[in-house]
Amino acid sequence: MRRGRILVVEDELRIAGLVCDNLEREGYTTVHAGEGEAALRAMQDGGIDLVLLDVMLPGPDGFEVCSRMREEGDHTPVLFLTARDLPPDRVAGLMAGGDDYLVKPFHREELLARIHALLRRHKWGPASPSDRAPIGGGWVDFRTAEACTAQGSAIALAEKELGVLKLLSRAQGASVSRNRILDEVWGRGTETTPRTVDNFILKLRKQFEPRPGKPKFIVTVRGKGYRLLQAEAN
Ligand code: CA
Repeated sequence: MRRGRILVVEDELRIAGLVCDNLEREGYTTVHAGEGEAALRAMQDGGIDLVLLDVMLPGPDGFEVCSRMREEGDHTPVLFLTARDLPPDRVAGLMAGGDDYLVKPFHREELLARIHALLRRHKWGPASPSDRAPIGGGWVDFRTAEACTAQGSAIALAEKELGVLKLLSRAQGASVSRNRILDEVWGRGTETTPRTVDNFILKLRKQFEPRPGKPKFIVTVRGKGYRLLQAEAN
């Protein structure tokens, strides 16, 4: 089971390396960005479950990165990491939409505990009675792999279909690139191409779009990939 993909935004390579090593040892996947614009690009690619965000960065600083994510409707949990420990900074961090704040140097155990808590809060809270998520005109239960199509038929989804939908669903409306979908669902180094993803999307549209020829929920983002909308797109 995938534990979560964490974007580590840190310009000091030694610290970034240390943090990434620690997280990977715990079973997380890490992506590193050394400055603010790279962090925003990584977020747009999708598939990130949590952001460890240094405040002092070249280019846009951590607070600005977080503000811009939130302006774009991205609610991925953000844990600020910073050497500065002044009350106004804490306030600025929270004002920018951050979820938690850890002052450097921090203890490994505290970092891991906070990440765990944020991921748990984000994934399972506010508590929903089931893992049933609306997908297009139907729904999917991510726990049992049961689904109901837009036409009202009960179906069981294959593992890869479930994986693609879960990834799109977790992105909460943000676009997810075809390469990211391939990496996450099929794994690196497999003999698949972005065309494989397109074929899966076509199949999912047949199941979940009221009018598969005119998709309004599983939408193509030209040059970027796909995104899943909860309400009909115009
Ligand atoms: Ca820094």
